[in-house]
Amino acid sequence: MDSNFYSLIESRMLSDRTATCLILRDGAELSYGGLAALVGRIARLLVDRGIAPGDRMVVQTEKTPEALALYLATLKIGAIYAPLNSAYTEAEMAYFIGDAEPALVVRDAVALAGEAAALEPLDRSEPRSADDVAALIYTSGTTGRSKGAMLTHGNLAANAQALIEAWGYGGGDVLLHALPIFHVHGLFIALHCALLTGGALIWLPKFDEKDVLRMLPRATVMMGVPTFYTRLLAQPGFERAAAAHMRLFVSGSAPLLESTFAEFEARTGQRILERYGMSEAIVITTNPLVGDRVPGSVGFPLPGVGLRIAGGEDAGGIEICGPSVFSGYWRMPEKTAEEFTADGWFRTGDVGRADADGRVWISGRAKDLIISGGYNVYPKEIELLLDTLEGIGESAVVGVPHPDFGEAVIAVATGKGDEAALIAEARARLAGFKTPKRILFVEELPRNAMGKVQKNLLRDRYAGLFA
Ligand code: AMP
Repeated sequence: MDSNFYSLIESRMLSDRTATCLILRDGAELSYGGLAALVGRIARLLVDRGIAPGDRMVVQTEKTPEALALYLATLKIGAIYAPLNSAYTEAEMAYFIGDAEPALVVRDAVALAGEAAALEPLDRSEPRSADDVAALIYTSGTTGRSKGAMLTHGNLAANAQALIEAWGYGGGDVLLHALPIFHVHGLFIALHCALLTGGALIWLPKFDEKDVLRMLPRATVMMGVPTFYTRLLAQPGFERAAAAHMRLFVSGSAPLLESTFAEFEARTGQRILERYGMSEAIVITTNPLVGDRVPGSVGFPLPGVGLRIAGGEDAGGIEICGPSVFSGYWRMPEKTAEEFTADGWFRTGDVGRADADGRVWISGRAKDLIISGGYNVYPKEIELLLDTLEGIGESAVVGVPHPDFGEAVIAVATGKGDEAALIAEARARLAGFKTPKRILFVEELPRNAMGKVQKNLLRDRYAGLFA
């Protein structure tokens, strides 16, 4: 049986060729039939260039309809799609190209599509088994070398189908898509829900508040990272009426602050649905579509996903198994073996807990755990407390080298206030070893493209604080 994920998408696309697939920033539209033809022509070009099944295609390009078609054409011919962050420099690209050993590197999907314009669309898709690799997703690599997570055709199909079910996604939905497509959030999660149901996508090249507000009236669903929501809230025109017609707002890729959830609800009446996932497994848990969306919790494991907490009394390492868990790191068998348990569960590297109902709460990355004077300190606990203090907007707690304690707890925060008074307030509610020794104010916390706070940069910046 053919398990090429593109075959699944294509059968849906061709069942209604005239249906709108993409609505662009300038209002122009591309139908499903139009997209299928574009995919077919690019697929023909790739085959003519000698790209064979299993070959890697490294792609660093603008988010255009052609870029989407290039992704789908890669799947169609059975090659492996390796998208890279558009912010990567030449030196970084050189590493990825050396690692992936691609048959082709594409830096401009529009130009490539131009070359394919006169070609006859390729009809046949390359049959694939569910275990064949469809994409190499390089992890953000905040520690050590970036690793290429191998996601299979089966992984993509299983996760997309589970999400469509969980989020009640249908062909009548119009998705506001302002995420980058070099990451699983924009490339798989958001995109596949729409493509597999035949729904339209508002295809924005990037998140621009003005564009989003202008296009939102046509949307029914938006998927974003937490920063999208805080940036929308900063817009005076973003009020109840602007969001009243929306069916669903989804947030993921980084923790959604409870204060953002609450403010969003107060302003719009909508409760953001938070979910948790990662490159290696796509979406892992989600808050319910029907039922209580609890701020601070990432909800329940998706159907088919096994989730357990290893070690730790109140919090431990989150381990998972299931049909969307990747097949391993590209050419890193040892690293892969290290990250899987003897009984085949993947160690996510996240620390969290599950409550009696099975709801999952994340307390951070294991590598962000601070060990101060021999005691374990979970940054999230401290951040949650600091964020409630008058003057502090948002905080990030990290450990930095300390001559006595090994590591000292420090906080970096937005807002302003009296450092000594804030530390005293925190101390009144926290054990001494957990209390930040310093609270340093900054304009903004450093974040990557997916809105994650880059704690590694903070650790580097303040490494000499107690030296
Ligand atoms: P990436 O592979 O770049 O998508 O990063 C995955 C990591 O992002 C996860 O392992 C978590 O640490 C974090 N993450 C994703 N979604 C959430 C969420 N809803 N809450 C907290 N952390 C999250």
